[in-house]
Amino acid sequence: MTDTVLVINSGSSSVKYQLIQPDSGQQLANGMVERIGEDSSTATLKVGERTLRREGRVADHDAALRLAFELSAEAGLHLDDLDLVAVGHRVVHGGKTFYRPAVIDDAMMSKLEELAPLAPLHNPPAMVGIDVSRRILPGVPHIAVFDTAFFHDLPAAAATYAIEHDVAEKWHIRRYGFHGTSHEYVSRQAADFIERPYDSVNQIVLHLGNGASASAVADGRAVDTSMGLTPLEGLVMGTRSGDIDPGIVGYLCRTADMTIEDIDTMLNRRSGLLGLGGENDFRKLHELIENGDAAAQLAYDVYIHRLRKYVGAYLAVLGTTDIISFTAGVGENDAAVRRDALSGLAALGIELDPELNESPSRQPRRISAESSPVTVLVIPTDEELAIARACVQVVRTA
Ligand code: AMP
Repeated sequence: MTDTVLVINSGSSSVKYQLIQPDSGQQLANGMVERIGEDSSTATLKVGERTLRREGRVADHDAALRLAFELSAEAGLHLDDLDLVAVGHRVVHGGKTFYRPAVIDDAMMSKLEELAPLAPLHNPPAMVGIDVSRRILPGVPHIAVFDTAFFHDLPAAAATYAIEHDVAEKWHIRRYGFHGTSHEYVSRQAADFIERPYDSVNQIVLHLGNGASASAVADGRAVDTSMGLTPLEGLVMGTRSGDIDPGIVGYLCRTADMTIEDIDTMLNRRSGLLGLGGENDFRKLHELIENGDAAAQLAYDVYIHRLRKYVGAYLAVLGTTDIISFTAGVGENDAAVRRDALSGLAALGIELDPELNESPSRQPRRISAESSPVTVLVIPTDEELAIARACVQVVRTA
């Protein structure tokens, strides 16, 4: 039998799940239940070349996970017959308490509950997923893998906000960073790709998906990252603003008759590319730009400008940079973003090879010129595989 891990990523209205054999990296199944709680829910499951699909209302997360297991069985993957050694759960915020992957017990659940205000959009739905799957699969260890873990040991100078010390202390305000599983996975893959030991290279990782974040990794340790107390800080994202003057919040509160909730929702859900250009998907944004849409062009320009600023900042933080990697939906697929993020930086040791940059591939690949002192890579991220591997490590060392 081969060790198999079920990885669950539970959002507010969707559950994504994969069955993975961590040792070989083989993905047995990849499924998703979307629009939970609506009449138009859909469930899909891909097993090899086969895709199963169900439509119709899925009332809640309990029903969603039960349906997921039903579809798996229909596809010939009965959980009882697989050597399921763990269920891995992606948990966005571990606060100050949690960073190492750990087996979930009732005590952890109640501590996670206390952390909910730190990540109100992400942690509560993950906890619903954990709660339901612990009930459905009680005989298997459930393991939490935290998105903040990789950044737990950021140097104090990078982790600390310059705000009143006592307030920060009392309310656990620091820069936590997110997408850590991806930043660690990609930076390790990148070091492997250039055949250098992980702890001997300096890297910048640009995780550009619907959410986006950058990190600086020196000798295998994260030394800075663009997301902060929440995943709102940093780069311009699909629907999030990234960095803004914090004075905007007070100003809107006082003058625009907006509540804190209104402002929070605007900054998280109606800002970024969507707020500026009307589209948060780069494929559609490019179409608008091609048709002369000025707002879409401005959204793109603001996105690129912010990205270049972070690249510049991290080149300075690192001093010497060996690798810059692009990953996630935009980073892996959008050659124009990669080109514009790094154009004109030959003086800083960064030279793309236009042909390599344009050629699409699903594999890790170099896109910099042979002569470029900084190697630029595209490394497909695989957070689920990284979570599955973290889980077997916990199980095998227990
Ligand atoms: P992720 O959050 O990593 O799944 O990334 C999702 C985002 O990736 C989408 O919103 C798109 O903006 C972007 N994306 C996905 N596929 C492509 C593509 N082929 N070309 C450009 N952007 C893409």
